[in-house]
Amino acid sequence: MAARAVDGPERDYGVVLDEQTRAFAAEVRAFLASALDADMRARTGGEAGRVERGREWQRRLNAAGLAAISWPTEYGGRSATAVQQLVFNTEIAAARAPEPVNRNAINQLGPTIIQWGSPDQRERYLPRILSGEDVWCQGFSEPDAGSDLASLRTRGVIDGDTMVITGQKIWTSKAQYANWIYLLVRTDPDAPKTRGISYVLADMASPGIEVRPIRQITGRAEFNEVFLTDVRVPLTQVVGPLHGGWRVARSTLSYERVGQSRTHRIERRLRSLVSLAARSGTPQAPLGDAAIEDRLVRFAAQVEALRQIAADATAAGIRGVSPGPEASIAKLLTSEVDQSMATFALELAGPAGTLERGSPGAADDGDVALAYLLMRAATLGAGTSEIQRNIIGEKLLGLPRDV
Ligand SMILES: Cc1cc2nc3c(=O)[nH]c(=O)nc-3n(C[C@H](O)[C@H](O)[C@H](O)COP(=O)(O)OP(=O)(O)OC[C@H]3O[C@@H](n4cnc5c(N)ncnc54)[C@H](O)[C@@H]3O)c2cc1C
Repeated sequence: MAARAVDGPERDYGVVLDEQTRAFAAEVRAFLASALDADMRARTGGEAGRVERGREWQRRLNAAGLAAISWPTEYGGRSATAVQQLVFNTEIAAARAPEPVNRNAINQLGPTIIQWGSPDQRERYLPRILSGEDVWCQGFSEPDAGSDLASLRTRGVIDGDTMVITGQKIWTSKAQYANWIYLLVRTDPDAPKTRGISYVLADMASPGIEVRPIRQITGRAEFNEVFLTDVRVPLTQVVGPLHGGWRVARSTLSYERVGQSRTHRIERRLRSLVSLAARSGTPQAPLGDAAIEDRLVRFAAQVEALRQIAADATAAGIRGVSPGPEASIAKLLTSEVDQSMATFALELAGPAGTLERGSPGAADDGDVALAYLLMRAATLGAGTSEIQRNIIGEKLLGLPRDV
């Protein structure tokens, strides 16, 4: 039976809370009540405004010790349990808090450095990830290396105690705002595909790095091409063994899948869908009609299941091992449910759903149209749905390997 939090406003998390978790829930609610002010709720300033808000929000979360609750306490986290993670996600979703600027580094790079980094690397990079002083982007994909990432061709040549990197990355989210990048580089071209790769951290201010934004279907330019020409990086910035970066990268990719499965976005989308449906409702049929109600109930059930799966998967990170193939289930289902909900919102809103922000009569001030367009990418980024299905088939169901 679901227990209700006793401190602060009541909320049903769908699980029984122990004393410590109740106190944690109250702490998170108190933090949100004071930190989430009008500035943080604003939607002005376009992409640059969002990034600035993300920086400030990250700073406030960190000041409250809430920037990375799933990280171990010794590295500035809270060693949060799955239930604490669930509580945190639920409160953040309900409050409609902005996205912290370093979400990807908190979800992916930090846990990777905790798992694979040297003590010096942990000391140098982790606190600045938490505070948002360093903003990171991920330089893995290349024009001919996406799903088949191990085909990457960016070269790293060792020259004394530095590596000289030349090549091209693509789809690098937030590279135009980041001051650091984590890269995969081929350092031993003679070794088998997955053996000669190194995982390297580079300062974006290094001579030889050029960023060119790519404009998307939404009109925004959230990702970029990154060109690297003779970029010199000290070997102390290699994470894990030299030439042995593939295993390190696999850890990052599994943390990334978990990160993509965090459910505050689908929780928020469910709320928006219900309020959209309610606007066409009548006292006899508050949500429009039975077919709409049926879709909403199904989405609600999926969101509830995913909330539990995602919280479990996130909390697994604190055990210091990267999540297993289960992370693919969480990523696959979350992105597909998210995409279906955005499509259903467009159906519900009708023509007003196609209007963009600022147009008179746009549904949810253009959010319906924006979400529909944004969600085209949900089943591609962090590994496509087909690739997640391959992983699930091979690793969990024992099916023959994809060739
Ligand atoms: C919004 C977004 C943000 C991103 N951000 C970053 C980032 O910050 N950093 C970064 O490095 N990358 C980023 N990416 C890149 C992302 O990781 C790749 O797009 C993804 O891995 C797919 O690679 P690809 O685009 O080259 O497609 P391809 O690998 O060329 O795939 C094309 C199609 O073929 C299918 N396919 C390929 N191989 C198989 C197979 N073996 N079995 C079945 N089907 C297959 C795919 O599922 C897909 O439908 C981002 C992508 C998106 C959409």
